Amino acid sequence: MTKLRINPDSDALLVIDIQNDFCPGGALAVPNGDQVVTPANCMIEAFQTVVLSQDWHPAGHHSFASSHQGKDPFEVVTTAYGDQVLWPDHCIQGRRGAEFHPDLNTSAASLIIRKGCRSEVDSYSAFFENDQKTTTGLSGYLREKSISRIFLLGLASEFCVAFSALDGLKEGFEVFVFEDAICALGGDSYEIMLKKQLETGVQFIETNKIEV
Ligand SMILES: [Zn+2]
Repeated sequence: MTKLRINPDSDALLVIDIQNDFCPGGALAVPNGDQVVTPANCMIEAFQTVVLSQDWHPAGHHSFASSHQGKDPFEVVTTAYGDQVLWPDHCIQGRRGAEFHPDLNTSAASLIIRKGCRSEVDSYSAFFENDQKTTTGLSGYLREKSISRIFLLGLASEFCVAFSALDGLKEGFEVFVFEDAICALGGDSYEIMLKKQLETGVQFIETNKIEV
């Protein structure tokens, strides 16, 4: 593939959930999750519009296994908005686990989208909560800035990155995922979500294919 030139006026970078709890040592650690920090910082330098997403739950959030009697993390429960995987307590508002990885360059971000803030609904995507209708406001922000292409990286590949990529497409953006700057939790969901993204038109590229 030839190099892809970044247009500072119409391209945006979405940095998904590079937070302590999703990195090794965190409450919901993605294996090798911290390895996305270096390529993320490199890409943050290359874009003018940089949006960070931050998983940001109140204590006792509905997505925590600890909020459901007798349930363990990674079990699935049925909610008003469909199936919900239960997670260990993670990214609790104001706590260290919810902070961005200390080496992530957050200063260049023009917007930070916090998600999963409502107790009763989870939010994998940076665009919509898991009920698929409550918006975070991100589409409006990007449209008002005349953004047409979005480039994603971060954690975890098959959850927050994939859901954001698919919603980005639905919202009419051209969507690219930096395949060398994402990390997966692993398991069946990874293949399922990868297939879904490829089928719908999400494009996967490497960070070294970018030209500024
Ligand atoms: Zn969460």
